[in-house]
Amino acid sequence: MMAFTDKDYWKALILFGLNQATYKIALGKTLLSLAEHGQTRVTWEQLSTEFLLQYQQRLSHDPMPQQATPSRQTVMERIVKLHLAGKLSLDQAIQEVGANAFGDVIRRFDNLGNDESFKGKFYRFDFGKELILTDDLHRIVEADTTELEEELDARWSLLEGAFSIQQENFVLSNDLRLTYLENGYKRKNLTSNIPFLQGYQGNTCFYCGEPIPPDDIHVDHVLPRQVLQHDEIWNLVLSHSFCNTQKSDRLVGEHYMRKLIARNENIIGSNHPWKRRIIASLGKTPDARRSCLERHYGKVRMILGPHYWGGSLSYSPEHDPFYRRMITVLNNSRR
Ligand SMILES: [Zn+2]
Repeated sequence: MMAFTDKDYWKALILFGLNQATYKIALGKTLLSLAEHGQTRVTWEQLSTEFLLQYQQRLSHDPMPQQATPSRQTVMERIVKLHLAGKLSLDQAIQEVGANAFGDVIRRFDNLGNDESFKGKFYRFDFGKELILTDDLHRIVEADTTELEEELDARWSLLEGAFSIQQENFVLSNDLRLTYLENGYKRKNLTSNIPFLQGYQGNTCFYCGEPIPPDDIHVDHVLPRQVLQHDEIWNLVLSHSFCNTQKSDRLVGEHYMRKLIARNENIIGSNHPWKRRIIASLGKTPDARRSCLERHYGKVRMILGPHYWGGSLSYSPEHDPFYRRMITVLNNSRR
């Protein structure tokens, strides 16, 4: 009954599944770039060259950790460093990438739960020899890659951010430290959550379901911060400034709580390192988390009174593309 576009499948692959390192994101960017250049048969050397280029760009200044385990680095970080230090020529670096970097990622890019419809959807491969890009991949690239590129970049940033939080000894960049000191403990800069939330919200407004232009993104507390007194991620969403102002500090209608619960379950299902934060705040099982959130909702209703904000008149959860598609894809492929 529900039809998913190739782009939906692509997004699901990028957003969900194991992300213990940034390889999948880099491969996503590599595939888009190769397809944009009209390639169909890609030699292992071309693949290695493009993959290396992605990491060279990413690691060129203020490099962030590319995987979760402290005091280790990925094969790609090592190769880029050796090349920068002049210990590997460009050709040697490309050879190294081809021989050592693709261990799992080429085989596992399209692994997602038990859903077999992803297998071989965007490329087939002869490991160590070539990659063949499919028509499905070319089709999504022809349509528009800006949004897909931005999502990959945002996802890459949020993984790096999560990894650096996990790596206790990772030195905060000066910028981050400055923001932290300026804002103190009370008033945290919530804009750092934007890339993370964008990944799970498909860049649409939580309240009206319409796309959000890049210069109008607001991080909003679904249950008012004045009541909850915290900035936990389970209560944060992205919205238009207009919708944000409309809602103000009022209590949202219950359909938004259902959407928030589903959004939080998506984060947990995706295995993002921050899922632990949500589990710690809300509970270990979906049922526990739902009733915890409902308790919070009840408290807020007691304090603010039952003066609901029902949301934008045109909004209906059943027609919200994010709600309808992404959640369903994930839930169906996870059992
Ligand atoms: Zn809106």
